[in-house]
Amino acid sequence: MEVTKTAKKEIPYISVKACPVCGEHPELKKEDLGRPGGHGYPGHFTYQYQCDFCRLLKGVETHDIYDSPEEAKNRAKESWNEEVDRVRKIQQAYAAARSICE
Ligand SMILES: [Zn+2]
Repeated sequence: MEVTKTAKKEIPYISVKACPVCGEHPELKKEDLGRPGGHGYPGHFTYQYQCDFCRLLKGVETHDIYDSPEEAKNRAKESWNEEVDRVRKIQQAYAAARSICE
């Protein structure tokens, strides 16, 4: 039996959480790194999730210079989801504090 070494790395599917402030789903911003004023990497892109509705939240910008677009997009999704979790914790803490005061 021949073993092929071209087996593709499995890229997990990550779903993007809704914005905790307005409930909308974020937009993926994709920008060409070879564009004028970019970083001079034609064929590579940056990825960043932002809430286009309330504009209060955005994830960290990632790029695909060292890995695949799918992996770079997943990092952008993870960063957005972390931001959502952080804001939800603040919202919960605020709600808990309010319930004590009332
Ligand atoms: Zn929003």
